[in-house]
Amino acid sequence: MKSKRTKALEISKKVKLKVWERDNRRCIFCGRYVDWNFANSHYIKRSQGGLGIEENIMTNCINCHNDFEETSRRKEMKIFAKNYFMAKYPNWNENNLIYRKWR
Ligand SMILES: [Zn+2]
Repeated sequence: MKSKRTKALEISKKVKLKVWERDNRRCIFCGRYVDWNFANSHYIKRSQGGLGIEENIMTNCINCHNDFEETSRRKEMKIFAKNYFMAKYPNWNENNLIYRKWR
């Protein structure tokens, strides 16, 4: 059985579809059109407890997703993504994106 934490970090299809529409079906970084299942990138990483909620999920093409996960571009991409989320959600706050067991 999956732990509560694992479940909270997963992205449901419902969230993916919502994020994909929010992002106009494009990678938020390069603007490339992608399929809905590419709405699967955690802003706060799963390993850091990043939740599978729309405020923490973005649509990324494969190239940008890899860059975001693995390269020195991560820092600048994170700033871009942060501004993107803040424009979408007036009360967006990184502290609300992380799993806490007392929730
Ligand atoms: Zn891209």
